[in-house]
Amino acid sequence: MAGQRCVVVRNGAVCTPGGLRDADVCVSGGVILSLERGAGRGTDEVDATGLLVLPGGIDAHVHSRDPGLPEKEDFGSLTAAAVAGGVTTVVDMPNTSPPVATAQRYQQKLDLVKNKAYVDFGLYGMLDHDNADEIARMAELGAMGFKLFMGQTTGDNRCPNDAAIFRGLEAAAAADLVVGVHAENDHLLRMFGDRLRSSGRTDPRAHLEGRPTFVEVEAVTRIITMATEAKVKLHIHHLSTAAGLQRVCDLRAQGHRVSVEVLVAHLLLDERAYDTYGNLIKLNPPIRPAADVEALWAGLRRGDINVIATDHAPHTAAEQAEQDVWKAYGGFIGVETMLPLLLTAAAQGRMTIEDIVRLCSYAPARKWSMATKGQVAPGFDADLVLVDPETQTVVDGTSMHSKHNVTPYEGWALTGAVVATYLRGGLVYENGAIIGDPSGRQVRPARVPLATEGP
Ligand SMILES: [Zn+2]
Repeated sequence: MAGQRCVVVRNGAVCTPGGLRDADVCVSGGVILSLERGAGRGTDEVDATGLLVLPGGIDAHVHSRDPGLPEKEDFGSLTAAAVAGGVTTVVDMPNTSPPVATAQRYQQKLDLVKNKAYVDFGLYGMLDHDNADEIARMAELGAMGFKLFMGQTTGDNRCPNDAAIFRGLEAAAAADLVVGVHAENDHLLRMFGDRLRSSGRTDPRAHLEGRPTFVEVEAVTRIITMATEAKVKLHIHHLSTAAGLQRVCDLRAQGHRVSVEVLVAHLLLDERAYDTYGNLIKLNPPIRPAADVEALWAGLRRGDINVIATDHAPHTAAEQAEQDVWKAYGGFIGVETMLPLLLTAAAQGRMTIEDIVRLCSYAPARKWSMATKGQVAPGFDADLVLVDPETQTVVDGTSMHSKHNVTPYEGWALTGAVVATYLRGGLVYENGAIIGDPSGRQVRPARVPLATEGP
């Protein structure tokens, strides 16, 4: 590679699709050239002795709040938090203000965020009550997929009726793009919420009681049934219940194809946490009883769950302190703590490093057709995370990069830390510091089928 800069990341334990192996990673032009032992000298040498070399995390479920609510977070602070957490690609959700439901708004959002991004990013469009034509146009602008809110959450996003949903699914299928679904039945949520409100309940657990399990099961069943008819690639975001997962497995056994995501929060927090954290952990779907959490872990071990994401959903510190559950916002930050928390789970024997890489890099890259992401392998983007699996730290919001670093994980003991992050071969984070200017780019879904696309 005479004349061209060549980075060699030497002596690390590299997590490849075939497992962990000792190798030197040679990078040129932002792309991985080779994995070999005893590689020749590079123009830049990185010593990864004692470190893991993982593909950058892909968080397929974040909310930057750009445009419209930058006081909560913007694309710069979101992606700074991502890079510090070893996440090199994010997929940003469209329930902003205004929602990204037309090609014009899609282009405006792209223009707004593209120079602020510290990581590569995909942008979802919205599947709303009447935008099938816009779905085709947003696809031309590189939409990573389309979000369907069947259940109410942050923003103005009432669920479309079933006919509108089906037209949107057909439009997404015609564009060969993923529809990602928030699967809860909106009418039932509103009815149960009204009942609890009029009974005078304002405590955090009322949120859980207002979103019973069957509300998720019903929505999962309906959307999988419709998606199969529409022949669209379907992804269930933040599945949260044992019964919901069982229904997915039953429908898969009948031939339906769907991928399933669980959130870090749904794996690490259960109902008892309402006593400690109150409305800070209000989340849609809610933090569930321990039996559901155990079922998600079991599903993860069986391979029934495909993707882990964060649903990074920032609000201001004042909003996060709201005491009335009906006034409190749903969601909290998470992109910066995802990998350290999962590395800690791995250190505790609850999962393996290979699981983390499969669920947080490999599988999301396949699902959203990111042709050059998600693997440490020749030909792929050199999005690399150097991890010290033994470092012990404590979650400390004051050192984090979101605008409001209020997190339920504050003070949690961690085993495993991100030491450095590389985006397409460039060092973008090292030992607590963001390096350089934003260099992230839009990731567009590949227009050709990938070799192994998964469910
Ligand atoms: Zn979300």
